Amino acid sequence: MKRILTGLKPTGDLTLGNYIGAIRQMVKMQDEYDSFLFVADLHALTIPQDVKELNARIRKFIAMYIACGIDPNKNTIYIQSENEFIPAMSYLLECTTYYGEASRMIQFKEKSKQNANFSIGLLTYPVLMAADILYCDCDYVPVGIDQKQHVELARNIAERFNNRYGEIFKLPEPLLSQTGTKIYDLKNPTKKMSKSEENPVGVISLFDDLDNIRNKIMKATTDSLNKVHFDFENQPGISNLLNIASELTGKTIETIEEQFKDKGYGEFKKYVADVTIEHISKIQKRYEEIINSKELDSILNTGIERSRKLAQEKYELMKEKMGVTRKILN
Ligand code: ATP
Ligand code: MG
Repeated sequence: MKRILTGLKPTGDLTLGNYIGAIRQMVKMQDEYDSFLFVADLHALTIPQDVKELNARIRKFIAMYIACGIDPNKNTIYIQSENEFIPAMSYLLECTTYYGEASRMIQFKEKSKQNANFSIGLLTYPVLMAADILYCDCDYVPVGIDQKQHVELARNIAERFNNRYGEIFKLPEPLLSQTGTKIYDLKNPTKKMSKSEENPVGVISLFDDLDNIRNKIMKATTDSLNKVHFDFENQPGISNLLNIASELTGKTIETIEEQFKDKGYGEFKKYVADVTIEHISKIQKRYEEIINSKELDSILNTGIERSRKLAQEKYELMKEKMGVTRKILN
């Protein structure tokens, strides 16, 4: 069975973008793959966090994964920071990564511009992500398009390590959703919807109350062309809403365009709000059942045990290949 892995960082409440771009992809694939899904809490530390909020989100993420349809019997679910071998591996990988390639990462460039006092962690975060991916020899990493470059970096680092020290890493491949859909901010539809966005008016959180979701969608930025048509260049707002509706209903963009051929934006937005609310309300109901259940801890214990065992093996092997071991190598 091929292996897949994805992690999401608890920098804010999970969004509709995270659901469509990442979690739902994992749900779709869980029957066919050996699936690893984690909360990337160490990654959240690259930018300042409120300690209590971050802490609460870790558990909320796990419950939300399950509420979104992740089956704990088919997935290895764990909290990244409970596996100490991953940051240890990351350091060894940092020594096989060039400063130039790390500083060329788009996310680093963007986020380092936002705050002049950015941490070194922001620069090395993709290397930690490489460790997340490489320790378990996964075949595919389902990600949204915004993360493709980081998976490619992981692949380059793995290849370099293999060439320099001996073949120990499988080269992972990014797996984009079939539509490759990236969900944009509703108010600012040329910017990705992000959970760490400070202004929530354009971001749909999976925790938003249902009236709020309707409001946000009804107030989404559109254009003056008055045509429900997919044209990202000229109609980014409408195109984004079409993407959301298509992803949530399984209908093609063309079918939905046809459905609203002679109708106004108000009616179209109401439809998008209805399908979104229908989806999210089911998720929220399941979430309420799970968040306080004892089951969460046993799921996490099982997950971390498997994850640690694999990471420890890989870490020991890396050290040996690099010569940093008490053993005398021959
Ligand atoms: P942050 O703002 O902290 O970077 P984020 O919302 O971008 O948060 P990440 O934890 O960086 O979320 O990414 C988790 C997963 O969700 C990744 O696979 C990423 O590609 C996917 N993802 C994030 N935002 C979107 C989006 N707007 N559309 C589709 N997929 C997304
Ligand atoms: Mg992100």
